[in-house]
Amino acid sequence: MFGNQILGSVSRKGNNHFSSFNPTKNLENTEQFLCASNEEIEIALASAKNSFDSFAQSTPKKRSFLLLQIVDELIEIQEKIKESYCKESGLSSERFQTEFNRTINQLQLFASFLTDTYSEVQSETPENTDLSLPKLIKKRIGIGPVLVFGASNFPLAYSTIGGDTVSALAAGCPVIVKVHPFHPETSYLVGNAIQKAISKTDLQPGIFSQLFDDGYDLAKRLIQDSRIKAVGFTGSFSGGKALLDLINNRKEPIPFFAEMGSSNPVFVFPEISKEKAADWSTMFAKSITNDAGQFCTKPGIFFVPKNKNGQIFAQQLTDKVLKEPSFTMLHPTIYNSYQAKKSERLEACSGQLVEKKGDLSPLEARQAILISSIDNFVNSDSLQKEVFGPFVLILYYSTKTELASAIDHLDGQLTASILLSDTEFSENQDLIFRLSQKAGRIIKNGVPTGVRVCESMHHGGPHPSTTDTRFTAVGTDSIYRFTRNIVFQN
Ligand code: NAP
Repeated sequence: MFGNQILGSVSRKGNNHFSSFNPTKNLENTEQFLCASNEEIEIALASAKNSFDSFAQSTPKKRSFLLLQIVDELIEIQEKIKESYCKESGLSSERFQTEFNRTINQLQLFASFLTDTYSEVQSETPENTDLSLPKLIKKRIGIGPVLVFGASNFPLAYSTIGGDTVSALAAGCPVIVKVHPFHPETSYLVGNAIQKAISKTDLQPGIFSQLFDDGYDLAKRLIQDSRIKAVGFTGSFSGGKALLDLINNRKEPIPFFAEMGSSNPVFVFPEISKEKAADWSTMFAKSITNDAGQFCTKPGIFFVPKNKNGQIFAQQLTDKVLKEPSFTMLHPTIYNSYQAKKSERLEACSGQLVEKKGDLSPLEARQAILISSIDNFVNSDSLQKEVFGPFVLILYYSTKTELASAIDHLDGQLTASILLSDTEFSENQDLIFRLSQKAGRIIKNGVPTGVRVCESMHHGGPHPSTTDTRFTAVGTDSIYRFTRNIVFQN
């Protein structure tokens, strides 16, 4: 029986347990995971609070060393992680390797950022004796214990040792992870690697805990506790909204960084050539269907010009999406939600739904394309909501005015893509600026999937794609979500 990871060891005090699911076999796995008991929750919270002072005052170099120790521990058990990752998610070993490498790169990036770039002292203003003005030193410190919720679709890169945990540890904040119940064994193995890494430093074991639960009680209890000073969440809009409501009821408000879903609109401009239609439809068909479209950056809505080449593009995109292989979804609940959302979107418009034909295994997602009108889109609140899976909405437009009204109607997005010629790019700066008010990343002639982890990345658009568009969840700047400023005068 897998237990909760607290104070550098494994605790098994709870009575309730749950199992994970194997989506490829469409069966429950045999491993069982103990839900955190009240006593264990209390120990995790107390140890996070108690370890904060020394962790916050540790040097960036020491925290960098910790991140590199985590890298070594993860690499050591890479094969074991791969086995549980594939078993619990149904994702392929190739996908595991990509995500694993990304996770390692992210840790290494933060490790070198801490030693080479990050400075706790932000600025110093000397004393001005003539005017009797004091000396000021502005510093950054960790905000306090951080609660992390990972997502189902990235068991590594947005989970136990995902961007939230790495940036919080880098900032000197103890972390409590609430495990995602779709990949608990993967999380456990990673948690074990983190605990071992901490034991190789002189940092306190209380800086990391990982707790298990398959309901909402644990999340509620943790998020309302006054010892938690910030929350990093990656998941659905409904999950993020439920947690935000709980935070809003706290006596002490705290920052809540929720990275949620997005429909990632794509705007095809009128001068599209036949050759571009062929290239772009190939590129986007893969981006829509890869791993069953289970990405927050999956392109979900296309605005296509109602001219000959626009129609060729839409037809080729439809054909290619249907021809791409189908993939097993992460869990029956995600599969059922995908089925329901396709029907809801069809009901929300008088459109035409084209679906992949033929037999599929029980949890394999059937690719679907819904073709509707821009009028339906601007008159509907629900048509633009994320459908998590290999689904795409195609909308034809005739005029630039229609395109502008569609942009104005859009909710906040993680990304928006524009497919256009250089001339169109310079002639449509007004529209592109309008679009930039709706998205955190604008992609020119490329796909939105594949978020590069680096200094210049901004992964986070206006609400409802996130709760705070000023901050990024990916890249080194994500550390600033978990620091606060303090000025020392005189
Ligand atoms: P999810 O169902 O919202 O789950 C995320 C976490 O939140 C889980 O630990 C879940 O626990 C918890 N949770 C959900 N609803 C809750 C509630 N009402 N009260 C308390 N806890 C709650 O999301 P998911 O299915 O894992 O992930 C898919 C979604 O994440 C998609 O919408 C995708 O676009 C988005 N995503 C966004 C990003 C990004 O960077 N923006 C990256 C990856 C994924 P339980 O499972 O126990 O409910």
